[in-house]
Amino acid sequence: MELDANIPEGPIDQKWSNHIDHLRLVGPRNRPGYRIIVVGTGLAGASAAASLAAMGYRVDCFCFQDSPRRAHSIAAQGGINAAKNYRNDGDSVYRLFSDTQKGGDFRAREANVWRLAELSTSIIDQAAAQGVPFAREYGGLLANRSFGGVLVERTFYCRGETGQQLLLGANSALAKEIASGGVTMHTRTELLDIVVEEGRTRGITVRDLVSGEISSHAADAVVLATGGYTNVFNLSTNARGCNVTATWRAHKRGAGFANPCFVQIHPTAIPAAGEHQSKLTLMSESLRNDGRIWVPRAQGDARSPSEIPEEERYYYLEERYPRFGNLVPRDVASRNAKDVCDAGMGVGPTGDGVYLDFRDAIRDKGADVIEARYGNLFEMYERITSDNPRETPMRIYPAPHYSMGGLWVDYNLMTTLPGLFAIGEANFSDHGANRLGASSMMQCLADGYFILPLTIGDYLSRHPAGEITSEHPAFQRTEDEVRERVSRLLDNAGSKPVEAFQRELGKVMTDQCGISRNASGLHSALQEIPRLRERFWAEVRVPGTGEHFNQSLEQAGRLADFLEFAELMCRDALDRNESCGCHFRDEHQTEEGETLRNDDDFAFVSVWEHNGDGEAPTRRREPLEFEALPLAQRNYKT
Ligand SMILES: Cc1cc2nc3c(=O)[nH]c(=O)nc-3n(C[C@H](O)[C@H](O)[C@H](O)COP(=O)(O)OP(=O)(O)OC[C@H]3O[C@@H](n4cnc5c(N)ncnc54)[C@H](O)[C@@H]3O)c2cc1C
Repeated sequence: MELDANIPEGPIDQKWSNHIDHLRLVGPRNRPGYRIIVVGTGLAGASAAASLAAMGYRVDCFCFQDSPRRAHSIAAQGGINAAKNYRNDGDSVYRLFSDTQKGGDFRAREANVWRLAELSTSIIDQAAAQGVPFAREYGGLLANRSFGGVLVERTFYCRGETGQQLLLGANSALAKEIASGGVTMHTRTELLDIVVEEGRTRGITVRDLVSGEISSHAADAVVLATGGYTNVFNLSTNARGCNVTATWRAHKRGAGFANPCFVQIHPTAIPAAGEHQSKLTLMSESLRNDGRIWVPRAQGDARSPSEIPEEERYYYLEERYPRFGNLVPRDVASRNAKDVCDAGMGVGPTGDGVYLDFRDAIRDKGADVIEARYGNLFEMYERITSDNPRETPMRIYPAPHYSMGGLWVDYNLMTTLPGLFAIGEANFSDHGANRLGASSMMQCLADGYFILPLTIGDYLSRHPAGEITSEHPAFQRTEDEVRERVSRLLDNAGSKPVEAFQRELGKVMTDQCGISRNASGLHSALQEIPRLRERFWAEVRVPGTGEHFNQSLEQAGRLADFLEFAELMCRDALDRNESCGCHFRDEHQTEEGETLRNDDDFAFVSVWEHNGDGEAPTRRREPLEFEALPLAQRNYKT
């Protein structure tokens, strides 16, 4: 497997513009001859499909939901970053770049991170032009707030529903292209494999989730915008349908998988209420702008929060990290929450909870101001817990949230499989070992609106259009393999439901590969997961048939892939014998309990190559170089 990142020459702030100058282009009259498949209609997929069609390419777009608008991106709450410096508080492209590099603990590719910071400003212009209703200041300028890990206010937001509004913008552009025939939309259709012939990606094999029909689609290039894999933990803040199938199938066909162990645990979710819950609800990081996080100083203090006097409250983030306080990055906030709960100071029925308190903010800024900022989040919390966060503090606890790992891509966003591109959360992204809040949507839209539409032309221009159709035997071969896998699931004579195995896998991953990891736990997970996989194939029962809408079958297929992927994730976590960002290895911490990187041995992207079922994968490395911002230990205290 070759790992040429294709990083352009030149100073960091000129790399992208130099690259654009020298990319090969497809002329406007030739574009309609090329067919591009985009899988996914979240922020990344919708923006890419709409932009490619607007340029004149023929686009086929797929999603498993009943409408492209229902992609998981709609759940994003808090905001999107951009280095506009509207606040005049010292922000700049350089500062967004350096915050992102530091936040990710120096495990991202510098050139990509700079490009992301540079493009951030165009995203806001694009979205505002589409009519996205960003919050505004009294004078009319777009408003900003802070997210964790930064000392400026650069987050643009639409109350607590920024993802929904940005997705409406991208989906309006997509709907226009669907209506004009530039995009053919295939809803309720699930990608189950990638078709590869002569080392290049030729199309995809899908299952119609309503009729059960399995079919293939040929294209000149395929773009995966299929989101992240955090549901490997079973309980996460992600939509229940989010899964690893598309990227895992691509990996098994030859695409390198990068940094699978980098998963973000978000500090502020509503704590799990019991074993049989199907998902966790996020309380946006934006709440940490005004909410203060604390626990009772005394262990096992069962008094209600209003009975605990000020001097008996432990504002642990403010005390431990005076410079950033409650706005430390997510990995730091999550580890500290776990730390105080493990020390017996946690609150709520399970003891796995800390308070997020708006009492002081309401007193100092006024109930109206706080309501205008967070009203819909308060409502959501109240509906779920029956507690009113305006009167009593929210109870929160860390939850799996976002995958920084994903398919390895070069500077052009192409995977190691020629003709296969990955964008948005599906790629290994620009966030290193820890994503800063409000930076995912920024990356999805930079990829979809501004990067991929240009870089894909460089690949297409090197190949004639329509070289292969779905009549080619490679498509039949892939379809046969997909049918065989579906039948194997349906014909299984087991008796246990899919969810039982999903819960078991989630527990192994949460316990051994969650907020903190260590060699002994990872070794035991690497033994448990193959055993669980064997039991799954022997004992699972998938009711119904393959010829109609069958959600058990969908879930079983996705879980089968998670059961393979989980092993790679633990292998990667074991292999990365250092702590960095969200990857906290108990063995590697400073005296103060912070992450201890090992730059001499681990300043690289881990890229895993599949060697066949039952064979150990090979770990390759893309070395990381730090020229624009020298390596430094993160410091959020002073
Ligand atoms: C609760 C919550 C709040 C968040 N808040 C913020 C925030 O404030 N700011 C921020 O920057 N980020 C936030 N994030 C993160 C951000 O929302 C996501 O990272 C981002 O939306 C991912 O977008 P995407 O386009 O890559 O994928 P998604 O939106 O997940 O879309 C994936 C698409 O792929 C399709 N798909 C997947 N697999 C298949 C398959 N096999 N076949 C066919 N189709 C498939 C799906 O149908 C869907 O259309 C939040 C995340 C969560 C969970």
